[in-house]
Amino acid sequence: MGKIKLLSAQIVNQIAAGEIIERPYAALKEVLENSIDANARNVNIFLKHSGKAKIVVEDDGDGLLYDDLSMCIQRHATSKLNGTNLFEIRSYGFRGEALPSIAAVSDLSIESNGFGISVNFSEISDIFPSKIARGTLVTIKNLFNRLPARLKFLKSDTAELSACISIIENFAIINDNINFTLRSEDRNVLSFQSESIENRLASIFGSEILERSVYCEESDDTVLVKGYLFHPIDSKYSQDFQRIFVNGRLVKDKIISMAIRDAYRDLIPSGRFAAAVLFIKIDPFYIDVNVSPTKSEVRFRDPKYVQKMVTNAIKRNLKKFDRIVLSDGGIFVSNDLNERNTEDSDTCLEPTVIDYLVDQDTLKTQFHNSSNSILSGISFEENIKTIPINSEFQSKTFENLDEVNFFGTPVCQIFNSYIITEMDDSIIIIDQHAVHEKITQMRIIKDLEIGRKQYLITPGKIKISEEQSRNFEEYEADLQNCGFDIILASNRKVLIITAIPSVLDERTATEFVKEVIETGEKLKLPDAVRRKIADIACHNSIRFGRKMSMIEMEVLLRQMAETDSIHQCNHHRPSFVKITKAQMETMFHRR
Ligand code: ADP
Ligand code: MG
Repeated sequence: MGKIKLLSAQIVNQIAAGEIIERPYAALKEVLENSIDANARNVNIFLKHSGKAKIVVEDDGDGLLYDDLSMCIQRHATSKLNGTNLFEIRSYGFRGEALPSIAAVSDLSIESNGFGISVNFSEISDIFPSKIARGTLVTIKNLFNRLPARLKFLKSDTAELSACISIIENFAIINDNINFTLRSEDRNVLSFQSESIENRLASIFGSEILERSVYCEESDDTVLVKGYLFHPIDSKYSQDFQRIFVNGRLVKDKIISMAIRDAYRDLIPSGRFAAAVLFIKIDPFYIDVNVSPTKSEVRFRDPKYVQKMVTNAIKRNLKKFDRIVLSDGGIFVSNDLNERNTEDSDTCLEPTVIDYLVDQDTLKTQFHNSSNSILSGISFEENIKTIPINSEFQSKTFENLDEVNFFGTPVCQIFNSYIITEMDDSIIIIDQHAVHEKITQMRIIKDLEIGRKQYLITPGKIKISEEQSRNFEEYEADLQNCGFDIILASNRKVLIITAIPSVLDERTATEFVKEVIETGEKLKLPDAVRRKIADIACHNSIRFGRKMSMIEMEVLLRQMAETDSIHQCNHHRPSFVKITKAQMETMFHRR
């Protein structure tokens, strides 16, 4: 007799589970996909121990027929590929392996239409009566309990919960017609009720971030790209805020990520990732979704084409950012041209009194320092006309500001707050505080990126619990990249900090480490550092109202030229305004 035997169904399912059900969030994802495929309108999720102890999903979808209860837990059994070509899949599921895989590594029960079935680590029960009359109730208990090797790879409760939360958020983004709620340990954690996609995005990413974003929608014969491009200032040290959906499926896709990176290339510092929510629609014929068991990757028939199309679509829409920042600017011109024309029509068509009035308040408004409307509180003489910076000025004046790397020669400082410089064909008005703040911020970010550190004369110590020690191990590399040197004592009860990033003081640095190991949330790491950087930059910058010497102004201009994204200050206001000679000629009706 030969030595080769077929594997038992249980082993086969456990192997499949190894690929599909890596952690609780993956089991949750599969079950949610089933609810959505079953046309549910309300999906309620309950978790215990972040899904490690229990995941319950209740939906009001089509439900399962009595005969299908015993079928759904069979491997490769699906209701979704009924004669459909594998290359034209329109449902989330199609492989028919999620439920048997989950059943192989947990205690699973499925109840629908008054009946239920359960599988305890592959042991199938008889069909039993159930109170669930409408929709479906799926309960997954004791995930990996009998597989200690898999249990070891589970992360802290906080990390597992945040993975579950982001899976639900992603389904809520792409299915804004479905209500989702999440309760964890009897706490209401999420509630996406009938609301617009914008409201859902605002509650996930923050309303400020969404307000700063631009909407993009472009298509050609094959591909539709739409979504929200977040402001460069909202870029992240991780790809967590980059959500890419291809035909309604959240995917991790290198081609699209590269397209995003290329489009934002000149707008964000290296090492950071642009944040964006992109919905890409493509004829299913042109993609293969059957690439990985978790269905989280896709393969495009013509990846280069898709990449180029997405990059160009994003690039074109990123240009809107300048307009947003500058949309409420205005220029005031003293001009009683009409009257003058009638009086002196034979001599001069141009204004003879050249008083181009720009007072301090106007300048403030120009730099968005004042929340006043451009027209409120104007105390100019009656004959003053307002020429808003309309489309004509916006495209001419502020085009390609990011490419500007020469800011002219300083002419003077006005109101001890703005520097005026002159170039061949234009003048620039610079907000001295805003640019210096930006220069300081970018310098600190650079220091942080290269992990510039300071060594402590007396190492700091933090007492920690076992869970905190695991969190530390998870984020050790990130902390090190920022400039921390931290040793975990051999008893795993103390952290010894020997070096901290050069931008932080010792107390903040220690608090910071505590926060990371306490919450186990990686996301907070870059955000907290950013907040700190913004504070430091603001306090160390040349203030408004401070007289500057010519030499200081020249140094500032040189630093400006070397700083990326200098056209925008840390508070998203423009940091300088350029007026070309041609525009001045238009103002004075010389052309
Ligand atoms: P797939 O989703 O790839 O078909 P699954 O193992 O996830 O495979 O599910 C098997 C089958 O069980 C599905 O095809 C579907 O018919 C049925 N099913 C699972 N969950 C639900 C649900 N919540 N509502 C209705 N039917 C479901
Ligand atoms: Mg499925």
